[in-house]
Amino acid sequence: MSESISIFWFRRDLRLNDNHGLYNALQGEHSVLPIFIFDTNILEELKHNDDARVSFIYERLQGIQNQLKQRHKGMQVFHGKPIEVWQQIIQEYNVKEVFVNRDYEPYARERDKAVYELLKVNGIAMKGTKDQVIFEKDEVLTNQDKPYTVFTPYSKTWKSQLADDSFASYQSEELLANCLTIDTELPSLSSIGFMQSELKVPDYQLTDEIIDHYKENRNRPDLNGTTKLSPHLRFGSISVREVCRRIHNQSEALLNEMIWRDFYAQVLYHNPKVVTENFRQKYDAVQWRNNEDEFRLWCEGKTGFPIVDAGMRQLNQTGWMHNRVRMITASFLCKDLLVDWRWGEAYFAEKLLDFDLASNNGGWQWAAGTGTDAAPYFRIFNPESQLKKFDPNLDYVKKWVPEYGTDNYSEPMVNHKEARERCLATYKTALG
Ligand code: FAD
Repeated sequence: MSESISIFWFRRDLRLNDNHGLYNALQGEHSVLPIFIFDTNILEELKHNDDARVSFIYERLQGIQNQLKQRHKGMQVFHGKPIEVWQQIIQEYNVKEVFVNRDYEPYARERDKAVYELLKVNGIAMKGTKDQVIFEKDEVLTNQDKPYTVFTPYSKTWKSQLADDSFASYQSEELLANCLTIDTELPSLSSIGFMQSELKVPDYQLTDEIIDHYKENRNRPDLNGTTKLSPHLRFGSISVREVCRRIHNQSEALLNEMIWRDFYAQVLYHNPKVVTENFRQKYDAVQWRNNEDEFRLWCEGKTGFPIVDAGMRQLNQTGWMHNRVRMITASFLCKDLLVDWRWGEAYFAEKLLDFDLASNNGGWQWAAGTGTDAAPYFRIFNPESQLKKFDPNLDYVKKWVPEYGTDNYSEPMVNHKEARERCLATYKTALG
């Protein structure tokens, strides 16, 4: 019989340092083989074979592999349907235990349950760990032991529950000697049907400059005032605990945003139906106009509303959009154009390098007024006053919409005042 081993399965935790699940695996009694699976169920849904997120994952895996190789260790990377890959792994290796960091999205939960069952019938234990969030699932509950659906009380309880180990650092990197000694190569990107993207995930900015001025700069798309952590938190190239250790005594405003991230993760966990449905059922009666030509103008950033167009072009060109502008563009689509939030959500999901089901869905349902802690439906962003307030010198607009102010710039596609009235009437009718 071959050597007994444990496996650590990387998913959205692509780092060797401060990785809780990896740390637990490396503390066990067997040598650890780290693996990653390029999941065809996910890859087949992507529209472009140069998807920048796949390139980013690949780059991270190369970094991990290089670090392991320096220690004569290796990671094995597979391509296929997870359940089939696991069938192959347990044929090939004498696996005793499997370690993962928990993932809370509906697809991931279903996938993990199937793998858990397969491993169980083969006498192999699968051990899940919290790593992706500070507080998970049922850890922050109301006095009645119910999940929260409103952010402010959630965040108060979240803060009151912080303990010495909430932001603990798990020194997984120090234990890499416990990995299996093995010589492995990553499959090429082309062998999994992808090519290198020209778009790159930018580095994050966790500097004193950003953190100290976050509160006053965070709403200004014309300033470089936010951390750009989102794709890194999405794929786990930085630990959420490391971020919180760094910021929690320095910027409460930034910590609050990290709490929003936990908040939406638990909303999705407790309400998987939000993926396709309104959180508040009473909004099901809203009669969306869903005009495809108007939707296309919005996607292309040709609405004639400069702040909306700048945001959409920033998204199309870089895979990132400033949070304030995400709110404005989303409100414009749902309210001014009366396009179903699910259309906008899907477009963001295709384009955002930081696409995260929980936060994206939460953000869209917030903008549409259909979500947990949503903007009331009668609060409709005015794109002109938002522009004046948050891009006062038009720097952001001029950067992304070079033809702004010339004859080549589009006329506004709707009259905002009229669109606002139409939206109010539509929602009012729906709510009865
Ligand atoms: P910073 O302002 O520096 O914040 C630091 C971190 O806090 C972020 O990286 C993120 O992890 C978290 N965070 C900040 N704001 C929010 C928020 N409102 N909700 C949840 N977490 C937050 N964020 C995503 O990560 N993925 C998405 O797919 C996504 N879709 C969105 C869609 C809409 C319609 C809206 C309104 C917001 C969405 N957000 C999403 C939230 C937010 O816009 C981004 O997290 C933020 O702009 C990322 O930039 P940053 O890392 O510089 O953020």
